[in-house]
Amino acid sequence: MVMIIIFAVIALTAIVIERLYPARPQPFFRTGFFTDSLHTVINILLRAGLSGFLAIAVTELGRQFLPPGFFGVLTNQPIWLQFAAVVVVLDFIFYWTHRAKHRFQWWWRLHETHHSSENLDWFSSVRFHPFEKILDRLIYLLPLAFLGASDTALLALATLDATIASLAHSNSTIRMGPLIYFFVGPEMHAWHHSADPDRQRHNFGNNLSVFDWIFGTAELREGRPDHFGTADPHYPQNHWLRQVFYSFRRENR
Ligand SMILES: [Zn+2]
Ligand SMILES: [Zn+2]
Repeated sequence: MVMIIIFAVIALTAIVIERLYPARPQPFFRTGFFTDSLHTVINILLRAGLSGFLAIAVTELGRQFLPPGFFGVLTNQPIWLQFAAVVVVLDFIFYWTHRAKHRFQWWWRLHETHHSSENLDWFSSVRFHPFEKILDRLIYLLPLAFLGASDTALLALATLDATIASLAHSNSTIRMGPLIYFFVGPEMHAWHHSADPDRQRHNFGNNLSVFDWIFGTAELREGRPDHFGTADPHYPQNHWLRQVFYSFRRENR
């Protein structure tokens, strides 16, 4: 319930920002709006359904194969430290898996769904292939169990995730200022969504931009791309099921 209220406040804030500082004229119910609504519902259900099951599975496997005390290293630490640790560790993993998603064809096919929005706005941040999300959750499972952050720290992480995601994808002229050297903003992430493949090879960060700066993939450009998306004229823009199946088509990128 708390999470729903937090997400509603973040969504409303993003909508207001896009109305006050629009980057390009775009209707609220743009192409793919209802498809993205379906992506939201299905990814929330998947997350809820998988979390409990996976947590039990990983705890059981850990008990069998890992040394005692491996899980929950942060359990007795203050909330702010738990929060900082999960943000840094998960963002580090996100950064490298995101680079891999652009490197390996099979993973790109799943990640492509997220890149398919041609009318980038705050609501594009929810568009993910369900298999990409499931795989992400599997990858994060062991580090999360190892860290053992409290529910409060994880709620703070989910709040940061939603805030940065809405802002970074927003159809607005808003900028992060000097904060861009620490956090991802639209001036970096909008370019990652450019239809130009050269631009997609930069700005892989999730919440933190620091790993892009450290590993040389940060790119700050003026303005915004002329075209967003995958530059694939056949991409099914407005159909959830076709988007899911499109990842398993035969021809090369
Ligand atoms: Zn990407
Ligand atoms: Zn994105």
